[in-house]
Amino acid sequence: MNVMEIFETMDYGPAPEAAAPALAWLKERQTFGLFINNQWVKPASGQYLDSINPSTGKPLTQIAAGNSADVDAAVAAARGAFELWGKTPGHIRARYMYAIARHIQKHSRLLAVLESLDNGKPIRETRDIDIPLVARHFYYHAGWAQLMASELPGYEPVGVVGQIIPWNFPLLMLAWKIAPALAMGNTVVLKPARYTSLTALKFAEIIQEIGLLPGVVNIVTGEASQVGEALVRHPDVNKIAFTGSTDVGRSLRRATAGSGKKLSLELGGKSPFIVFDDADLDSVVEGIVDAIWFNQGQVCCAGSRLLVQEDIADRLIEKVRARMEKLRIGDPLDKAVDIGAIVSSAQLKQIQSLVAQGVEEGAVMWQPSWACPTDGYFFPPTLFTNVSPATTIAQVEIFGPVLVSMTFRTPAEAVALANNTRYGLAASVWSENINLALDVAPKLKAGTVWINCTNLFDASSGFGGYRESGFGREGGKEGLYEYVRPAWETDKSSTTDFPIAKEYAPANGSKPSLDEDVEDHAPLSDGYTEFPPIDRTPKMFINGKQARPDSGYSRNVYDPEGRVIGQVGEGNRKDIRNAVEAAHAAEGWAAGTTHNRAQILYYMAENLSAREDEFARRIVQQTGRAHEDAVAEVQATVSRLFSYAAWSDKFEGDVHRPPLRGVVLAMKEAIGVIGIACPDEYPLLGFISLIAPAIAMGNTIIVIPSQQSPLSATDFYQVLETSDLPDGVVNIVTGDRDTLSQVLADHDDVDAMWYFGPLEGCKRVELASAGNMKRTWVSYGHPRNWLDPARGEGEEFLREATQVKNIWVPYGE
Ligand code: NDP
Repeated sequence: MNVMEIFETMDYGPAPEAAAPALAWLKERQTFGLFINNQWVKPASGQYLDSINPSTGKPLTQIAAGNSADVDAAVAAARGAFELWGKTPGHIRARYMYAIARHIQKHSRLLAVLESLDNGKPIRETRDIDIPLVARHFYYHAGWAQLMASELPGYEPVGVVGQIIPWNFPLLMLAWKIAPALAMGNTVVLKPARYTSLTALKFAEIIQEIGLLPGVVNIVTGEASQVGEALVRHPDVNKIAFTGSTDVGRSLRRATAGSGKKLSLELGGKSPFIVFDDADLDSVVEGIVDAIWFNQGQVCCAGSRLLVQEDIADRLIEKVRARMEKLRIGDPLDKAVDIGAIVSSAQLKQIQSLVAQGVEEGAVMWQPSWACPTDGYFFPPTLFTNVSPATTIAQVEIFGPVLVSMTFRTPAEAVALANNTRYGLAASVWSENINLALDVAPKLKAGTVWINCTNLFDASSGFGGYRESGFGREGGKEGLYEYVRPAWETDKSSTTDFPIAKEYAPANGSKPSLDEDVEDHAPLSDGYTEFPPIDRTPKMFINGKQARPDSGYSRNVYDPEGRVIGQVGEGNRKDIRNAVEAAHAAEGWAAGTTHNRAQILYYMAENLSAREDEFARRIVQQTGRAHEDAVAEVQATVSRLFSYAAWSDKFEGDVHRPPLRGVVLAMKEAIGVIGIACPDEYPLLGFISLIAPAIAMGNTIIVIPSQQSPLSATDFYQVLETSDLPDGVVNIVTGDRDTLSQVLADHDDVDAMWYFGPLEGCKRVELASAGNMKRTWVSYGHPRNWLDPARGEGEEFLREATQVKNIWVPYGE
């Protein structure tokens, strides 16, 4: 087409970005080795893999096929470097990270072109979105390296971190992983995705260029079965950070169960894009383009489900189709191209097969009239209407340029439809009525909510999922905690300076002696010297009522001498199910005011304090500890209730100011229904130290008291009954800790499980949690000194009880 013809048709002419510098860079290197200890090394296998340009289907270069021997070498390098990097002052780490950011900017065009060649995404996106966000991530985290000592006192790096990233944002995902890890003093071994390793290898050159300490960053390319699995199972890796599919995330949860490795998972999504009838429809259409055709729809938080208010649905669909007709697909290096290539032929086949399934299931498919290029892996933008919410295309992550649309009538219906998937990564809400949008946002089960915008990201605002979209956050201050741990955990010297519960076995021939308060029985005037003791058998506490165990069995409770001091109900699966149902029914607790929750916690403290002596005697009876000791435990418990009453209206969110006209509201929300298995040490304080932060933050709970000494917890339900706590917020089920924990960890309607018990039990809980990807917090068999407020209370507990939702609110007309 010549200039005259372009002028007449007003059609786009070609606007190619030159590939030559990137191709020359590839040619100079020919094949790539592995990056270990700041050296390029040959893979142990001696094998290489082709790296393909998805827009042509032709090889670009070859990358090393690493295996477990290479992973061993990389982990050893990272471990060696950790000795120094972990102790390097924050300011020095900040200077290195600042240098990385500067060098990313210096090589920005090469990185952008390389990314487009390797991944198939349009240069417009790599140049204007991916690479600037990469640089911003390193700048932002350089700041946290500088501030770590003052802003995260009492925390230390976790050590060597294994990081596994996907192919959809290759360099950006690398930045999301490496920047916070280095800022907090960790060293890393990173596995890029098999299809897209090239920008990670250019990044390795930047690491050499800036002279970072050898071994701090190691990059091992290769296949998941060789490199990824070896990294996950490596005994000297302290944490795994993963972004990718939910299925692989689930397998990593199982593979790391019981190992003590920290784990953060950023997984799939099926994010709703909700349009109310008062929305500005032209903005909505552009929003849809950014939501589902950005990066060919290969975005974990893509707005892939369009939910439109019924009265405007036809009008909007017509506008969307008109816009789709104008989208331009083709060479990713053309600056005027909207949609590039799909990353691989395997991914293309996956999209084709899901689209065919959608048609088979009866949805109506629409695609623009123009044809896609036939070289390379292209798929046209696709819109499905007449989709019913339960069909495959409405539930499964397609990870391609495919939008499915459904309608709703009322805001309540919109929320129900939006939440009707197993995922919870992101959501967009479109309405000119800010009251409506801000009312809907907290009701959406999603880690990020964009109001009248979509797919915006910034290092200051954490990103991550609810439900099966994973756990942990990347970005923001909350993301830093994924890369640190409390320093006391590694302070071995002081773990046994407090009483650790032992197994109390029944004494030989011991008879039940259910009456512990013999001295209370006054002599009687009517001929009897003493009444027979009144049998006080604690029941369970479900939905605000005392409940008998479904099993009809009781279990003995022994003192340290092996004498029976009481009996509690033997809870079973049915009791747990009832308790979970009650906890769900009480979820309105989270929507109540924080002031109200504080008042109830103070009230509990007051009621407990009034019965200090009785509770102390119960502790003495169960543990054989000295009376003063037991009184100290009750007093510490009262203080702990005060602490969480105080925190309940103070552990609040933040307002971020990312580089846009607007704000991001980082709200700390309750996780939902939490199962809690209590420790044996400190039967009262251990119990309250876990239930108080959970309910202070708005969760509802099912708690299994100390198996050894459950009577402090069962006595406590009388305090609950007199403290105005709504029914179902706290449910207590006594019995065998591991049996009951297993039921809770398996339960799909439980959102998190905390377990403070033996290592074997921790492993079982982590394994079972993979079913619905519930969050877990386990003690790995280490007892805690609950009396020490530095270990037994505070922000660590509050963070476990909450998840951050970031709500983006742009301003301006
Ligand atoms: P995967 O989840 O399989 O891959 C992501 C990363 O994990 C890659 O580096 C991969 O290596 C690695 N990996 C895969 N299996 C294991 C394992 N068992 N142990 C350790 N590491 C492993 O995603 P795919 O690339 O296979 O894509 C499949 C689907 O996943 C897509 O269709 C999409 O639906 C979803 N997906 C979601 C993403 C998100 O951001 N939420 C990102 C990417 C995909 P390798 O590349 O060598 O296979």
